[in-house]
Amino acid sequence: EVVTRFAPSPTGALHIGGARTALFNWLFARGRGGKFLLRIEDTDRARSTPENTAAILDGLTWLALDWDGEPVSQAAGAARHAEVAQELLARGAAYKCFSTQEEIEAFREQARAEGRSTLFRSPWRDADPATHPNAPYVIRIKAPREGETVVDDQVQGRVTLKAAELDDMVLLRSDGSPVYMLAVVVDDHDMGVTHIIRGDDHLTNAFRQKLIYDAMGWDLPVMAHIPLIFGPDGKKLSKRHGATGAAEYRAMGYPAAGMRNYLTRLGWSHGDDEFFTDAQAREWFDLGGIGKSPSRFDTKKLENLCGQQLAIADDAALLQELEDFLAATGAPALSEPEREALGAAVPVAKQGAKLLPQVLEKAQFALVSRPLEPDEKAQKALDPVSRGILAELTPQLQDASWSRSDLEEVVKAVAEAHGLGLGKLAAPLRAALAGRATSPSVFDMMMVLGRDESLARIADQAA
Ligand code: GLU
Repeated sequence: EVVTRFAPSPTGALHIGGARTALFNWLFARGRGGKFLLRIEDTDRARSTPENTAAILDGLTWLALDWDGEPVSQAAGAARHAEVAQELLARGAAYKCFSTQEEIEAFREQARAEGRSTLFRSPWRDADPATHPNAPYVIRIKAPREGETVVDDQVQGRVTLKAAELDDMVLLRSDGSPVYMLAVVVDDHDMGVTHIIRGDDHLTNAFRQKLIYDAMGWDLPVMAHIPLIFGPDGKKLSKRHGATGAAEYRAMGYPAAGMRNYLTRLGWSHGDDEFFTDAQAREWFDLGGIGKSPSRFDTKKLENLCGQQLAIADDAALLQELEDFLAATGAPALSEPEREALGAAVPVAKQGAKLLPQVLEKAQFALVSRPLEPDEKAQKALDPVSRGILAELTPQLQDASWSRSDLEEVVKAVAEAHGLGLGKLAAPLRAALAGRATSPSVFDMMMVLGRDESLARIADQAA
């Protein structure tokens, strides 16, 4: 069974890069009937806050990246991590190092002076335990002193690190607390993680982590280190490029499905496909499609995909998303009639919109109630002649079956009778139906509003 995980450090909110990492892990697991686990790496007590954890969970929930089971707290596993350090000690794969900070500094200084590598080589590595002093110590792993450590990465290929570049890293500090590197390995092993997909800023950690897996005789999970996200200028994505937090995009009204579609394509490809459904993404996603070079964040592409996703959005789900968005902006909750009106307008309003505020803008005609107060531009379209034509239109519409083709026919006929183009008649009709000069098509609005409301609005402005 495939088991993936997302392991954010709650030292900040969920940013675009983290969301993309979570999404890749989620897609990989969900496409294979596997599990997607969540581990909060809260070992940095000073900088980890419950607020950040809540914000991360919130961001994942927004993107509908559901995780299996309860989130695991890394800090809560400290005793277990220490236990593994002790086991490595018992196996002879690790040793107690009594070197003091001063001694380590002196070692480095001398190495520098002699032009040697400054990686600390502890004199305690091969010391006889009988000679151990009664003094504080750390537990260090015995890194290989010869050959190289190899990681076969699914994205980066075969990467190696020479033994000369690996030191005997500390596993357990002198106060008995485990280091981060040990905690990650123990947690991944205990959680049954089979695939680690994460940013390539962790690639160098992979070598050190592999030492622990090897020493414990544990299988190394499949590794896939994905290139980081760059801004349009080719530099690592940062605040300088604009919004980088998932929550910021949410607050601007980017629809979750569009964001997901875009993030899936950010560093992963499936032929020339840009737009795809969620089911397709799950079916298609694989590690082989992850590119080796950094991808550039492109807001235009993101917005285009948002538009395409809105067009195919499930109307009920989109209504809910709009309500959530409104609530987040602090707008008062919709009344039941408003909710119904917005729901009726959604199928029309979502067409051609890219962000949620645009959908709301297009749905505005359904949310206003009679008598409408046409704005200045709409007033212009409601000159006396136009009002007269609206009056003439009313009985004819009354007789029409309320089908789109019938409505089009009636309006066309009246326009022709006055020697007007359809557009000339549509302007006052739009002004009467929406109270403004821009809106969805008059026929779409009449279908959404229905016979009674449409006729009443037209009558309100007819002379
Ligand atoms: N906590 C690490 C981070 O937020 C992730 C570590 C990992 O995925 O192994 O960057």
